[in-house]
Amino acid sequence: MAISTTNPATGEVVREFDELTDDQIEQKLQRAHDAFQAYRDTTFAQRSGWLRAAADILDAETDEFARLATLEMGKTFASAKGEVSKCAYGLRWYADNAERALADVPWSPKSAPEGARVFTRFQPLGPVLAVMPWNFPYWQVFRFAAPALMAGNVGLLKHASNVPQVATAIEDVFTRAGLPEGAFQTLLVGSSKIEAMIDDDRVRAVTLTGSEPAGREVGARAGKNVKASVLELGGSDPFIVMPSADLDATVEQAVTSRLLNNGQSCINAKRFIVHADVVDAFTEKMVASMEALTVGDPMDDGTDVGPMSQAQGVTDLDKQVRDSVAAGARLLTGGKPLGGPGNFYPPSVLTDIPEDAPAYREELFGPVAMIFRANDVDDAIRIANDSPFGLGGSAWTTDDAEKERFVNEVETGMMYINKFTESTAEVPFGGAKNSGYGRELADFGPQSFVNAKTVWIQ
Ligand code: NDP
Repeated sequence: MAISTTNPATGEVVREFDELTDDQIEQKLQRAHDAFQAYRDTTFAQRSGWLRAAADILDAETDEFARLATLEMGKTFASAKGEVSKCAYGLRWYADNAERALADVPWSPKSAPEGARVFTRFQPLGPVLAVMPWNFPYWQVFRFAAPALMAGNVGLLKHASNVPQVATAIEDVFTRAGLPEGAFQTLLVGSSKIEAMIDDDRVRAVTLTGSEPAGREVGARAGKNVKASVLELGGSDPFIVMPSADLDATVEQAVTSRLLNNGQSCINAKRFIVHADVVDAFTEKMVASMEALTVGDPMDDGTDVGPMSQAQGVTDLDKQVRDSVAAGARLLTGGKPLGGPGNFYPPSVLTDIPEDAPAYREELFGPVAMIFRANDVDDAIRIANDSPFGLGGSAWTTDDAEKERFVNEVETGMMYINKFTESTAEVPFGGAKNSGYGRELADFGPQSFVNAKTVWIQ
């Protein structure tokens, strides 16, 4: 894919960028390697200072950063501002908490003599390559970079090819924050350059947030090189509704969760699994709520749902919906691209989805809700788990026994009760099954890319 800014609301190619040459990539890898030799010895206080300075820059120029995200990937300006502020919060949270998360962990083996000290010390690995997606173009990067930098690693960012200006702006934030040269670099390269970078000895670990196919390739390459990897991949999160839930409030949360980020979040609720006693009422209310939303210019305050980020995304989603309908699914609203200019697709609802329809097992990465009827708790759990994915999920009920069952039996990396799954600095984030492995955020973030060294001194 060419590296360029294309406005998703108009289809206009705003700016094109040259990919780095192999020589330039070589220079950046060497710079990262050299920077690490000094950066690993910086103190937590110094690193915290740089992160806080980066947070101050994000806060001071929120509108400018947000405008770039809206221009490049189409999220509403309001949500882009929220994303930039969340990054500032995350940077400060790690400035305050990483040292605690990385403190030595003491052990007390019986065989140790009196006065011996046995503990785990966390030491940085070196340059970490981050392959990131466009959907939360700031947050995905900062949620990797803040803990990794606090742990003493240095970062190499290969961002998605459709958000080059955001990618460049992030490096610029760290530079202006005073981070040592080479400690965080953006590489404007396509995905064909990734394998060679993972093979390079100077790159010590890799993290990818993106689709399952990309994750398989990057994870396999990391494995071949015996390098640590974290994979945050796609999801088709269940949103289970039981009869005890407050229906109006639950539908409101369902619609919000499905349409966050114009329907393009890995943790959007995607499969609405609703108890038979309330499924008809839920469906009617959800369709009405989806139809009441305004689709349009993401810079406009009155817009609820902006364009999808890429024309190809609309084409793919349209095919998944049409193939699902051909397989027997019933379309209750939407279901057809709105036509150009811009990548607009309306909020849509599918139901009665047969098991062989694409919508049953694939991720639908756009504003389409899928409703499933469940006969009881067992049936709801069965449907929730009948997916190759296992990222997040939520269940809506006031019944304590049901809550326990959903927490214990739904096969996801995150399970929220009476709240939809979110990504926030203080809470661990990650998936099960084909949604990936490893955990980001909270104390797991800084602990992801370290040598947990056992030390025994007697
Ligand atoms: P892609 O996997 O296509 O792109 C993500 C990143 O991977 C980009 O930087 C891309 O580069 C790169 N990439 C693409 N193909 C390969 C490859 N074969 N080898 C190495 N790198 C590659 O993801 P999408 O753009 O489709 O993003 C949406 C997907 O990401 C969805 O499935 C979504 O659920 C998932 N996602 C998961 C999240 C999580 O936290 N679990 C969060 C957000 C999204 P380039 O742009 O140059 O192709």
